[in-house]
Amino acid sequence: MDGVEARRANRRRFHVSVDWLLRPDRARALRVLCVGAHCDDIEIGCAATLQVLQRRKGGVTIDWVVLSGTETRRREAANAMHRFVRPRFRGSLGFADFPDGRFPTVYGSIKDLFESLKREQRPDLILCHERDDRHQDHRIVNEMVWSTFRDPLVLEYEIPKWDGGLGQPNVYVPVTAKDAALKADALVEAYPSQAQRDWFTRDTFLSLLRLRGLECRSPSGYAEAFHGRKVRIAGF
Ligand SMILES: [Zn+2]
Repeated sequence: MDGVEARRANRRRFHVSVDWLLRPDRARALRVLCVGAHCDDIEIGCAATLQVLQRRKGGVTIDWVVLSGTETRRREAANAMHRFVRPRFRGSLGFADFPDGRFPTVYGSIKDLFESLKREQRPDLILCHERDDRHQDHRIVNEMVWSTFRDPLVLEYEIPKWDGGLGQPNVYVPVTAKDAALKADALVEAYPSQAQRDWFTRDTFLSLLRLRGLECRSPSGYAEAFHGRKVRIAGF
């Protein structure tokens, strides 16, 4: 086995289908619930992974919930969701109106929302903020997910920001160069309200994709990464 073959074999050895991590008694298309504290969080965290999910056999339905945002930002988020999720894979798109930056003050109301999501959405996979994210709104979303849902696989996405805090993820989703470019381009185009922010740039998004791609040896060089706190493998 030469060096190239060894690297390919190494990649195969660590490849796990998401179906191995989901409940085996599921008899329907994969249902994915994306949750973000703010407009643009979901896209920054997992827009490229959503492209991979939409290529899987067996179908997928992607529900999208954002917990805060002005009218302008909501319009941008709706536009972004439509760019990232093709019509036949779109589930619901919902917005709540909790105060940006002050989620701890409305803890009970947010819990009520999550209980209603549990009844209505029945997700197999939840993509949400990371537990150790330093933004108070992001942390509350993570806490709500874990305190509300028992059965879904939860993968926690990462958000680059000024206060740092990016940790060491343990779940990687290799994506194509096209997925990576779509994420970077569509994010910048869909959110003109963020154009004045010096970090909200194409190279910010691409650089994190590239770094995570390097870490997991993605064939394209690009990947998104997540924190999987509890993973059950059902495919052996
Ligand atoms: Zn946010």
